[in-house]
Amino acid sequence: MSGVPSLRMYNGLEIPQVGFGVFLVPPEETKQAVAEAIKAGYRLIDTAQGYRNEEGVGAAIAESEVPRDELFITTKLTNSEHGYDTTLAAFDGSMKKLGLDVLDLFLIHWPLPMFDQYVETWRAFERLLADGRVRSIGVSNFEIPHLQRLLSETDVKPTVNQVELHPEFPQEELRTYHDEHGILTESWGPLGQGKGLLENPEIVELARRKDRTPAQVVLRWHVQLGCVVIPKSVNPDRMRENIDLFDFELDDADMADISKVRTGQRLGADPNEFAML
Ligand code: NAD
Repeated sequence: MSGVPSLRMYNGLEIPQVGFGVFLVPPEETKQAVAEAIKAGYRLIDTAQGYRNEEGVGAAIAESEVPRDELFITTKLTNSEHGYDTTLAAFDGSMKKLGLDVLDLFLIHWPLPMFDQYVETWRAFERLLADGRVRSIGVSNFEIPHLQRLLSETDVKPTVNQVELHPEFPQEELRTYHDEHGILTESWGPLGQGKGLLENPEIVELARRKDRTPAQVVLRWHVQLGCVVIPKSVNPDRMRENIDLFDFELDDADMADISKVRTGQRLGADPNEFAML
């Protein structure tokens, strides 16, 4: 068993608190990377139709000795497939590539509010849930107004919202909204995507004081905020480092030190504007 604790979603199902993200892992390297990650103790694997590496994830699952019911597999609907029938067909395509009968978590990757289809798309997600083809449904990159619309116009509340979140962009308001509505926050880009966060002097100094790496103190910050976190590395040593977070704690002063690096700036796209198909 892996040493990673799970969080309980409002639907009663559990999700491992640390997972392995495979964004930008080349398709031909994905099987090996996911196999290494499972060996290192990861049980949650986060892919997406748009990453074009679902087959590699599926191949690693098929060859793994870890029983299927101990793994938690997430994929995401790609932007071009919004709409009711297109969502159902795209889901079938993912399941074929992943080689799965039932998916653990299906997410709408981006809301694309300018096309005004996410409510209809969500109806297809509700159908997949009702048909038992997916255990939990959620969203990604949804802002508060998008969540408000789903909550008022549809029947099933998202279990999670996977959003850009790291110490430079800590998403306080969105996290508060999630907490008020029983939606789990899942952090993407948790290490700041290799764009300087781990070299920030505040983070480096805290890591030195705690005798941990900068990546570990940042990931521990996510864990203590109550987020699910999905760091990505294809380096087996870093994979192990990124999951080894459960034998130390950050105190209030440490958490406050990490808060100092806040810029309020996103590293990725603005969900209200992002429309790439
Ligand atoms: P990340 O913050 O996980 O950063 C990855 C970068 O950090 C890589 O360059 C890697 O080499 C480096 N790194 C990893 N571990 C390290 C360590 N221990 N020490 C030093 N450097 C280290 O960024 P990400 O990959 O963009 O995000 C993680 C996952 O989130 C993705 O793989 C994907 O599954 C998901 N994601 C989702 C969305 C979305 O729209 N829903 C967008 C981006 C990413």
